[in-house]
Amino acid sequence: MGSRADIGRRSAAWAGWAWATAAATLAAAEPAAFSGARALGHLEALAALGPRPSGSAGMERQRELLVAHFQAAGGRVSRQPFQVRDRRGGQPVRMENLVVEWHPDRADRVLIGAHYDTRPFPDRDPVDPRGVFLGVNDGGSGVAVLMELAAAVRALPGPVGVDFVFFDAEEFVVAPRDPYCLGSNHFARQYAAAVQAGGQPHRYRCGVILDMVADRDLEIFQEQHSVEWPDTRPVVTGLWDAAARLGVRQFVPRPKHTVEDDHVPLRMIGRIPTCDVIDFDYPAWHTTRDTLEQCSAESLEAVGRVVLEWLRGLE
Ligand SMILES: [Zn+2]
Repeated sequence: MGSRADIGRRSAAWAGWAWATAAATLAAAEPAAFSGARALGHLEALAALGPRPSGSAGMERQRELLVAHFQAAGGRVSRQPFQVRDRRGGQPVRMENLVVEWHPDRADRVLIGAHYDTRPFPDRDPVDPRGVFLGVNDGGSGVAVLMELAAAVRALPGPVGVDFVFFDAEEFVVAPRDPYCLGSNHFARQYAAAVQAGGQPHRYRCGVILDMVADRDLEIFQEQHSVEWPDTRPVVTGLWDAAARLGVRQFVPRPKHTVEDDHVPLRMIGRIPTCDVIDFDYPAWHTTRDTLEQCSAESLEAVGRVVLEWLRGLE
């Protein structure tokens, strides 16, 4: 039996233990944060690989980097290979979409996609249109956001599962009339065929494409197709409402550009209502100046936080 003093010490110890437990519970419940600084670190790593056009050694290095990154983060990674012909010489080019599944047991899913190829040439460059195109914002930024989003998405309580999809050949454009969005076309056709055949265990309720989201002067207007498609409009509203809740002023709640991006085949072929999140006012677009200097951690963080806030609000 202890003295009164002992009891006092014990209850102080108990109070300390209870406090520590409560703090640990709080820390566990605290949602994982999205760090713009870390996302910029990922973007630097992608830029260091050099140009990453479809079929190139740079693209292959990037693919290995992404597979390792997402496997280490606990995602289930699969590859979706396909082939196209290079219209310059007719030779086959090996393409590959990458899919990273989080909580694959959840049948109700959301797709978050980004193209991860870079344009073969900076053909809008006034000085050097056959020069080196690094594609840090256009091709790199969406990938960097997803790399940073991994930990937070893994911790999402549900009910939805999330797939990150990296599309190859969004702009494997070497001749004037070359088609765009080959990877998302292939993905959407495969998905639609599987749904039709009854062999698709999960369904995408909607999707989001992230493209050119690192511009240091970030201003993301709503994309016209996304607003006009009745099934996709709620995705737009959901994202821009999430931005308003967070006070993220880079998301401007009115439509501006019409963009033919990966969301078009996903919605038109795959029947997945998909919103394009893109800052299409980018002076360095398709020039040799699409480099790290144009990008900021703050912009990446704005986009990452909004996507995460929107995901957390899905019921
Ligand atoms: Zn582009």
